[in-house]
Amino acid sequence: MLTITISGADKSGALARISTFFVRKGYPLKGQQVTESASGAKLVKISLAITQLDKAKLAAELRSLNPDFRVVSIEGVESSAPSIKDMADQFPDIAPLVRAYGESFGSESRDRELVEAGEKIGAFQYEKEWSFGSPLKMPVALRRTLVPALETLGKVDATDTDVTLLDSPFCGTGKIACCEFLTGFMQGFLDAGPLTQNTRVQKAACRAKGNSRCTYTFTYDL
Ligand SMILES: [Zn+2]
Repeated sequence: MLTITISGADKSGALARISTFFVRKGYPLKGQQVTESASGAKLVKISLAITQLDKAKLAAELRSLNPDFRVVSIEGVESSAPSIKDMADQFPDIAPLVRAYGESFGSESRDRELVEAGEKIGAFQYEKEWSFGSPLKMPVALRRTLVPALETLGKVDATDTDVTLLDSPFCGTGKIACCEFLTGFMQGFLDAGPLTQNTRVQKAACRAKGNSRCTYTFTYDL
């Protein structure tokens, strides 16, 4: 038995739509209910009498039903993919975990999942290691907190408006690029700082796309 938790189910009729979807796809539906997340968002839980499921495919199919529907978790299946908690526990030795995490998603959802995982890890690291003392503004925050945090992951070149990973462990020619994890990491890290929340992080160059390095740019108002 698998239990699938789906978010984005706040509109009325979501439970019926999702249940109908599973039945129409031929899944053996054993149970369905609506619960609430800690933040009050509606979650649909679906139980199926199966033991294996392609999460990436299911996530894509649900999104085509409604872009708000997201697979939050699948319980009851042994997943070989590491969890975000695994990454938090093993930081900074996380490159193999991030790769395995990225590879567990289809190409359609991988970058977004990596950004989200990175945001959580970045925010967690900020709170844990860098949130003491007076909050800093950009670009001082970049030099004194974000760059040192990134240096635990690999060699970094930085200016006031960009950061380059010289040999990103999350990326490489011919490999699945997992460097959007770092986009999320930096965004989550900066969003967690009271005076750096106005900063946007974007990946500007990537080894997997033929550039020589992976570079991220920062835009912010002074
Ligand atoms: Zn890259």
